[in-house]
Amino acid sequence: MTVAIEKPALSSAAAKFLQKEHKLLIDGRWVAAKSGETFPVEDPATEETIAHVPGGDKADIDLAVAAARRAFETGPWSRISPGERSKIVWRLGDLLERYGDELAELEALDNGKPVTNARRGDVEGSIDMFHYMAGWATRLNGETIQVSSPGNWHAYTVREPVGVVGQIIPWNFPLMMAAWKLAPALAAGCTIVLKPAEQTPLTALRLGELVQEAGVPDGVVNIVTGFGETAGAALAEHPDVDKIAFTGSTEVGRLIVKASAGNLKRVSLELGGKSPAIVFPDADLDLAIVGTAAAIFYNQGQCCTAGSRLFAHKSVYDRIVSGVVEEAGKLKVGHGLDPTVNLGPLVSKEQHERVTGYIQAGHGEGAEVVVGGKTGNGHGYFVEPTVLAKTNRDMRVVREEIFGPVVCVQSFDDEDLDSVAKFANDTEYGLQASVWTRNLKVAHMMARKIKAGTICINTHNYGDPAWPFGGYKQSGWGREMGKEVMEHYTETKSVAARL
Ligand code: NAP
Ligand code: MG
Repeated sequence: MTVAIEKPALSSAAAKFLQKEHKLLIDGRWVAAKSGETFPVEDPATEETIAHVPGGDKADIDLAVAAARRAFETGPWSRISPGERSKIVWRLGDLLERYGDELAELEALDNGKPVTNARRGDVEGSIDMFHYMAGWATRLNGETIQVSSPGNWHAYTVREPVGVVGQIIPWNFPLMMAAWKLAPALAAGCTIVLKPAEQTPLTALRLGELVQEAGVPDGVVNIVTGFGETAGAALAEHPDVDKIAFTGSTEVGRLIVKASAGNLKRVSLELGGKSPAIVFPDADLDLAIVGTAAAIFYNQGQCCTAGSRLFAHKSVYDRIVSGVVEEAGKLKVGHGLDPTVNLGPLVSKEQHERVTGYIQAGHGEGAEVVVGGKTGNGHGYFVEPTVLAKTNRDMRVVREEIFGPVVCVQSFDDEDLDSVAKFANDTEYGLQASVWTRNLKVAHMMARKIKAGTICINTHNYGDPAWPFGGYKQSGWGREMGKEVMEHYTETKSVAARL
C-alpha cells in the first residue's frame, strides 16, 4: 500500500490551540485534574504526541457534577427565557462556522480523518445540529388535557428539563458527537458534564472555549477529559446525575445500564451496528457501487452505521464486487491533513490491531480477500480498504462489528422480499440498512421488513438533524435528533387543578 506521508503544516490558529496547556472546563473555569495527571494525545498518522490533556477522574467528575447541579438549580440557566436559550444555542452554531477550518484541522490531526471530510461532514453537521436544535428551545410546549373526572378541572402538561446530564462520547466523530449531545440538552435547559473519548479530546476542549464565547453561563457545560474506566464510570454511576446519554460500543453500553441502576437515572444509548446494504438487480448500479463503497470506506469504516454487510443479488454480484474494488483503488491513503487524501489512518494502535485481527480471522475462516488487507509499512495506523468475498453468516467478520474499512460481501438469489429481509435481520444489531433499487414497492416494502432504526433508500450513512436516529435491538435505546431527542432531555409534568 502506498501511503502519502506528507504532513501539511497546521494553520496558525490550530497550532496555537494545540500548544496551549489543556485543562478541564469546570464551573466556567479551566482547571487541572485534581490528581495533576495528564495523558498524551497522538496523531494516528505519525504516532507522534501532539498534546497532553488532563486525566480527570472521580474527583473531577464530582466537582463537575456539583457545578452542573448548582447551575441547574440556582444559576441563571434555570431562569433564562427559552428565547434567550435559543439564541445562545444558535450562536454556538455560528461560532463553529467561524472557526470551522481550525476545528476541521484539529479533528483531522487528532482522529486521523481526511480534513476535507472533517470540514464538510463533521463541522457542517455540527453547525447544523446547533442551528436546528436552537429552534426546539422555544417549542417545548405541553398540552391541555381533556379529563373526565366529575367536577370542573383544568388539566395540562408542561415539559421541564430533566436536570443534570452526563454525556459520554466516542472517537469516530468527536466534534459531531459532542454537538449531537450538547445541542438538544442545552435547548431543553439541562446542564451538562461531557466526557470525550480518550483518543480524541481536542475538539471538545476547543468547543468548551466556544461555549464560553457564546455566553453559556458558568457551570452549564463542564468538560472532563479522562478514561472511561475512571471518569466515564464515575459519571455513569453518579447519584446526582439525572440522565446519561452514551454513544459507543454495545459492550460499554451494557456497563452504563448497570451503573445507572443506583439512582435509576434515565439512559439513552447509541451503540454498534452491522448494517446491511442490499443491492437489487434493478438498481442503478453505478450509483450503488459508489454508494456502497462510500458506505464502508467513509471515515475509514469507523461509522456506527457503516455498510459492513453488502448483499448483492447474484445477477449483479460480480459487477458490484468489481465496482467496489475499483472504488477502493481510487482512494488516496495518507495523512488526514492533506486535502487530497480520502482515507486516513484508523484512530489508534488498539483499533489497528482489532481491524487487522478481523481481516486475518476472516481469511482464516475462508473469506476471499479480493482487495486490501494490508497495513502501512511505516508509521501510522493505516489499513487498506478491504473487500472480503465468499463470506457467510457464521463468520465472525459477518457477525461482529469490525469498525474499519472492511466490507463482507454475500450474494442472494431470492426474489421473495421476506427471505431477503431475513438475511438483513440476521444480526443482533439494528441501526441502519440501505436498499438499492429503482422499484418503489421493493424499496418501501423492505423499509417495513428490516428491523433497523434508520432505513436509507439509494443512499447510506444518511443523517440530518431533523431525522430521528437510533437503533433497534442491541444498537441502542431511544432516538437522537428530530423532535424525538427532546424526550430524552425533558420530563413531562402533569398538573390538575380543581376549579
Ligand atoms: P467505548 O469503549 O465504548 O468508548 C466510548 C466512550 O465510553 C468513551 O468515551 C470511553 O472512554 C467511554 N467508556 C469506556 N468504558 C466506560 C465505562 N466503563 N463507563 C463509562 N464510560 C466508559 O468504545 P472504544 O473502546 O473506543 O471502541 C471499541 C469499539 O466500540 C469499536 O471498535 C467499535 O466497534 C465500537 N464503537 C462504536 C461507536 C459508535 O458510534 N457506535 C463509536 C466508537 C466505538 P475511553 O475513551 O477512555 O475508552
Ligand atoms: Mg475504550
